[in-house]
Amino acid sequence: MREDPDGSTLSLGTSKESTDWKLCTICQEKNNSKGIVVLNPRTESYQKLLDIVADRASVQDGERCLQDCTKQTILEAKAMWHRSCYSCATNEISLQRARERF
Ligand SMILES: [Zn+2]
Repeated sequence: MREDPDGSTLSLGTSKESTDWKLCTICQEKNNSKGIVVLNPRTESYQKLLDIVADRASVQDGERCLQDCTKQTILEAKAMWHRSCYSCATNEISLQRARERF
C-alpha cells in the first residue's frame, strides 16, 4: 500500500468526525445555493459562534461538530461559513426557542 502523494487532507481533528474546514463549518455542506460564504470572518464572529454552540449544547440543540473547538482551533483552521448559516445559528429567537423546548 502506497500513500497517496496527493492526499492533502487537513489533519486538524484527529479523533472521530473531524470538521472539514474547507466546507461551511456550521452545516458542512458544499451547497452553493446557500448563498454567500464568509471566508474571513472576524475574530468576534468566531467567538460569538463558539459561545452560541456552547450555549446550545447545554440545551442539546447544538452544532455537534463544533463543540470541541476552541477559538484557537477555528482561527488556525480559518473556518468559514455561509452567511445564512451563521445568521441562523446566531439567531437569538431560535436560541430562545431551543431553551424553552428544554
Ligand atoms: Zn452552511
